Amino acid sequence: MDISTLTICDAAAELRKKTFSSVELTQAVLDAINKKDADLNAYLSVDAEGALLQAEAADAARSAGRDGDLLGIPVAVKDLINVAGQPCTCASKQLVGYVSPYDATVSAKLRQAGVVFAGRTNMDEFAMGSSTENSAFKVTRNPHDLTRVPGGSSGGSAAAVAGGEAIAALGTDTGGSIRQPASFCGCVGLKPSYGRVSRYGVTAFASSLDQVGPMTKTVEDAAVLLQALAGRDAHDGTTPDVPVPDYRAALRGGLKGMKIGLPKEYYIGGADHEVMACVRKAVDACAAAGAEIVEVSLPHTEYAIAVYYIVATAEASANLARFDGVRYGHRTANPGSVFDLYAKSRAEGLGTEVKRRIILGTYVLSSGYYDAYYGRAQKVRTLIRKDFAEAFKTCDALLTPVAPTAAYRIGEACDDPLKMYLGDIFTVPANLAGLCGISVPCGQTAAGLPVGMQLLGPAFGEGSILRAAYAYEQGVRA
Ligand code: GLN
Repeated sequence: MDISTLTICDAAAELRKKTFSSVELTQAVLDAINKKDADLNAYLSVDAEGALLQAEAADAARSAGRDGDLLGIPVAVKDLINVAGQPCTCASKQLVGYVSPYDATVSAKLRQAGVVFAGRTNMDEFAMGSSTENSAFKVTRNPHDLTRVPGGSSGGSAAAVAGGEAIAALGTDTGGSIRQPASFCGCVGLKPSYGRVSRYGVTAFASSLDQVGPMTKTVEDAAVLLQALAGRDAHDGTTPDVPVPDYRAALRGGLKGMKIGLPKEYYIGGADHEVMACVRKAVDACAAAGAEIVEVSLPHTEYAIAVYYIVATAEASANLARFDGVRYGHRTANPGSVFDLYAKSRAEGLGTEVKRRIILGTYVLSSGYYDAYYGRAQKVRTLIRKDFAEAFKTCDALLTPVAPTAAYRIGEACDDPLKMYLGDIFTVPANLAGLCGISVPCGQTAAGLPVGMQLLGPAFGEGSILRAAYAYEQGVRA
């Protein structure tokens, strides 16, 4: 069995027809990992034994009459989401040896749906980065060109899905970490609206921005996974009681009659011309399929990166305080004092980018600077949110690039943090405003590197972006 193009929906159909069992499917995924991961480095750990046991249970349940779109489907999980009994290192030396004592809500929901947890995917340490090069353990490679990065921080999940080592995966997105690697690797990545999916049991980077979402081969698969993940959770007070619509039903409306907005600040140059050519072709395809294209303005776009790197680092400095060798994580061997214990444990366990962000975040929150940096960033964040509210008065979704470039070479950008941060320009505004966004493949460069387009929708408007993305994807395929 070749799982490289196998989708959740196809696999579910074959499981129903008994073409293969979940054990056979899971074994095929494990075989693919064995065969390909020496090149791709997408996984940090694989739980073959546990996965096969879960697959057996899924097969038994199916024989007993149970059904479900995700029953017996193996899914890869980014290594910062807790799955009981599996490691959860966040790609940090600080958490080597940590085994999750409980399921995150998203894991519990997938477990209930009968998902098989095959393995844990590589990422930038604590999700801080855009290339997966900040992993403390290994550098994941882009399946389309092994000399290039897969994007990040959910680069392991994207490479696993696009490289034929997973049927689907979970990622997290604080400022683009689902959408950008999906674009670099040529798969679909959906960042739900803030609060649509529970963050309970997901290692926090920036709590007002983080969301878990699906990384899949098709838009339909993203809808199926989102259906299982979404909803109010008593363990996460930021998940409101907004009804979860039938996302699969939402796919079918078509582009006809939809108003798609192009934010003019996203089309003024600066991005790679091959990337822009693919995105413009996608705009034309949407227009040809019956969408009305309108120009909109998001005037505070130029401040988004600065605001994001203040808010995200401030929250990270607070969230990562717990990894101190006492409450969690690596503990230094022979501390000379209590101060030494904290200082050395963190100095030894955390990587350079994580330390940079903790220091930056602590600085912007410190007395005397708080109002000038953090306070002001929060005010501009409100203005960014208002820009989007205004734009969505005249359109159903926005269409933009995901990233200013296609995948770059390993080592090319990692010595220049600012350059790396600027690559997040098209993705961070959605997190700051709490919107939903999806990255869908829309072409490739002359060198054969995938390019994604981004559709952004209003908060809890996942149905609209799924509908537009599905119509586009079907049109391209036809
Ligand atoms: N690239 C962004 C950052 O480095 C986003 C990361 C993310 O979404 N987790 O912060």
